[in-house]
Amino acid sequence: MTQRGVTIVGAGIVGVCSAAWLQREGFKVTLVDAGPIGEGASFGNAGNLSPGGVVPYMIPGFIKEVPAWLAQNGPLAIRPAYFFKVLPWILSAVKSSTTEAALKTSRAMRALHGGTLEAYDALTRDTEASGLIERCGQLYVSAQPGKAQGSQIAQFMREAAGVKMILLGEHEIQDMEPTLAPIFKSGMLLPDNGRCKNPHELVRIIASEAERNGAIILRAKVGSFQTNSKRVTGLVLDGKAHAVERIVIAAGAASGQLSAQLGTTLPVEAERGYHITIGEPGVMPRIPVSNVDAKFVASPMNMGLRLAGTAEFAGIDAAPNWRRADILEKQARYMFPGIRMQSVTRWMGNRPSLPDGLPVLGVAPKYDNAYFAFGNSHFGMSAGPVMGKLIAQIVAGRVPELDITPFDPSRFLRI
Ligand SMILES: Cc1cc2nc3c(=O)[nH]c(=O)nc-3n(C[C@H](O)[C@H](O)[C@H](O)COP(=O)(O)OP(=O)(O)OC[C@H]3O[C@@H](n4cnc5c(N)ncnc54)[C@H](O)[C@@H]3O)c2cc1C
Repeated sequence: MTQRGVTIVGAGIVGVCSAAWLQREGFKVTLVDAGPIGEGASFGNAGNLSPGGVVPYMIPGFIKEVPAWLAQNGPLAIRPAYFFKVLPWILSAVKSSTTEAALKTSRAMRALHGGTLEAYDALTRDTEASGLIERCGQLYVSAQPGKAQGSQIAQFMREAAGVKMILLGEHEIQDMEPTLAPIFKSGMLLPDNGRCKNPHELVRIIASEAERNGAIILRAKVGSFQTNSKRVTGLVLDGKAHAVERIVIAAGAASGQLSAQLGTTLPVEAERGYHITIGEPGVMPRIPVSNVDAKFVASPMNMGLRLAGTAEFAGIDAAPNWRRADILEKQARYMFPGIRMQSVTRWMGNRPSLPDGLPVLGVAPKYDNAYFAFGNSHFGMSAGPVMGKLIAQIVAGRVPELDITPFDPSRFLRI
């Protein structure tokens, strides 16, 4: 019997995990990426793997915090020239922040993130990537008493999801992470969360395992699609036609442009984030530490200490504003006294974000053999292996093991 074929557009964490799971469903996989494997948002994230990631950004009251976040050197920036372009997205995000909507989002996040470590284990066991993942816990700290755990609704969401959390005082934080400056008054430990020690390497290894198992990897940009009635029949790759049997769009923040070409306009924004990685910092926390006040994570990684986070709306093609990364340098000195700023590299990446805080996962509304798997925003490293498994089940025509209704690609078409 000839193997059924599937072509995946995008070799970030979602694309490579989809490839691995689709192979397990018996598909012959082709993976297409415009650049080297894993050099989109999946390259430089903080590597937090968060089964307990159940608190959306859009929760009641978030809008009141926005002016403070937008302050100079604050964790949020909107380029003035882009403000009116992103305004509808922001208004839609505000609509998603009612208590009812946020609780729904939180339940969907738990479903998607809850099994991340098990899904990674299934994909990486007996490969070089198995040592890159660790269930080590994540620590959240704030310089203000009682703030590390977030608002009441945030705590309610964690409790409702059964997420284990341990609240810590000033001295307990110091005992746990002596490298931190003694300025943090409240802490929260989520002991069941984990980390990836090198996200780029993880993506590369999953891709090379897929290649070893027969996947074809093509480096080319998908410019447009060839279609016939309700079927996608080909991709135009760097100007040349390439026939396909079925496709999965997993192109991260660029997926909005591609899905629009397939007749479905979705509000995918590039929510840009920055990192600095300090190669020889001299101090290293044991586990990822999130600074709740400044909204970034300090993650111990194989290649050094990485501070990653903040959000910037400027459009997907705008040049980076490296002043955003400089803020992280200042924060590093403030948070870790004695840190050495040696071998520092900077990076900017586009988080694929939808205004309700959930990704899009399922069959494309206008084409029977096209599938969407993108939009994991701040949680793509956590959601990736589970998204991949679900999309493989959907493409195989099986009932997915989780309820995918909250991720319905048509949900924005109804409003
Ligand atoms: C600063 C920062 C910190 C983060 N920290 C965390 C964290 O700690 N934990 C967590 O879970 N998540 C985190 N994230 C989010 C996470 O990195 C993303 O959600 C995730 O990497 C998205 O993966 P993806 O596969 O959807 O997209 P990407 O990794 O962006 O991959 C998409 C791929 O598609 C390719 N592509 C695009 N257009 C085309 C085209 N036309 N033709 C061919 N190929 C194309 C690109 O080249 C790219 O390789 C963070 C993000 C940032 C920016």
